[in-house]
Amino acid sequence: MNLSAELRLKAIIDGTRAGTWEWNIRTGDVVFNERWATMLGFTLDEIQPLSIETWNQLCHPDDLKRSYELIGQHLDNKIPFYECLCRVRRKDGSWCWIKDRGMLVKQADGTPTEWMMGTHIDVSSEQESQQHFTHLAASVPGILFSFEMDSPDALRFTYVSERSYAYFGITCTAIEEDASAFFDIVHPLDSSEVHATVQNCYRSLSEASCQFRMVIDGAEQWFRAVARPIQDPFGKLVWHGMLVNIDDQKQLENTLARLSITDELTGLFNRRYLTQALNDAMELYQRYQSPFSLISLDVDHFKKINDHHGHLVGDNVLSKIAGLMADRLRTTDIVARTGGEEFLVILPNTTEKEATQIAETLRQMVNQAEFLGHDNTPFIVAISGGVLEMSEDIASVEELLKRSDQLLYEAKDRGRNMVLDEQTASTRAPLHSGSNARPHNDVEI
Ligand code: GH3
Ligand code: MG
Ligand code: MG
Repeated sequence: MNLSAELRLKAIIDGTRAGTWEWNIRTGDVVFNERWATMLGFTLDEIQPLSIETWNQLCHPDDLKRSYELIGQHLDNKIPFYECLCRVRRKDGSWCWIKDRGMLVKQADGTPTEWMMGTHIDVSSEQESQQHFTHLAASVPGILFSFEMDSPDALRFTYVSERSYAYFGITCTAIEEDASAFFDIVHPLDSSEVHATVQNCYRSLSEASCQFRMVIDGAEQWFRAVARPIQDPFGKLVWHGMLVNIDDQKQLENTLARLSITDELTGLFNRRYLTQALNDAMELYQRYQSPFSLISLDVDHFKKINDHHGHLVGDNVLSKIAGLMADRLRTTDIVARTGGEEFLVILPNTTEKEATQIAETLRQMVNQAEFLGHDNTPFIVAISGGVLEMSEDIASVEELLKRSDQLLYEAKDRGRNMVLDEQTASTRAPLHSGSNARPHNDVEI
């Protein structure tokens, strides 16, 4: 079949559903096809007479300005063809997104004519989807991202939402150009975890998540990243995910974790934490023979203090003793209130002799401190202690605690206000000299 060139061209243009435009840049005359008018809800007859003014009136002023700038660049031979995204007013007043493309028509020998010709294609639905996505990305409480990997060490972000700047002070473009802009600010202590997760993504090809800190302006912030792989239309795996700031949640978790191991009254560790620490110390001893000692302390005749001065004064006594102990002990020592008026201290790398001296110092500090009663009259408090160094013949934490308690009871038995270790207990002699022992509270109250 022999079709004329004109017929073929018309069929192609009709098939693309493109609006066509021809514009005489000298006279301002224009020609639009029927599709151009229907794309905007008009008929061609309705918008007669046609001139470049028709376009100038319908195109959004901002886009019109940019369009003329680009046409200027094309006519100056700075760009080979003209292309611009424009908003154009429809008959019903709504805006239509149009992809505007064209070029200056030249003779066969390259001589420019007075005419530019091109097409207008309605891209409203693509543009609206894009806008929806951009608005969504801007309003979700996190950073959306997509990445690809040719290998676990070659992760490439193909998309990062603009919020990256608000979160990290790093533009999405910088991260898309070079993923290390992101990885460089992962906290050094968490970067191996992050890299392990990336490796895992590469290997398992399944959803992965990870919690880590980022260092932003010198301050740590916790984030959680979740990503899952989806095969793109070309068969390539692309991970899509979201990064959320979980700093508030982490702070809360830390506070709860701290509270769960802290004694509310004294601020010392509680029994739960001490038991864990004692198990850890025992494991270190059994594996590496790391020495440690344990002190059990108990306030003497505490019931009488409560009975005489009231529970509140009793509480103050416990707090004050806790303060004295915390001041005297090293930060590596673990001191806990393990019961009503009972305290336990774990002393790493400390022999029984050294631990006994420390316990004795604590006993003296408490005994020499002044406590105030309900009527503000001062009174004296005494404590007793049992001291024990971990040794090979102690098989378990329970046995260790039992033996240190036995020493404590022995000290109580021998008259209180004293500290006993295994050696002094076997001599049946009290450790402290009578001279520095003040009368204990059953006498004073
Ligand atoms: P001992 O010298 O033999 O240790 O005698 P004690 O009176 O100190 O020992 P006992 O076990 O008979 O009494 C301990 C008291 O401690 C009883 C309890 O009411 C009181 N107690 C326990 N926990 C608290 C607390 O948190 N605050 C106060 N104020 N008293 C407490
Ligand atoms: Mg007591
Ligand atoms: Mg007790």
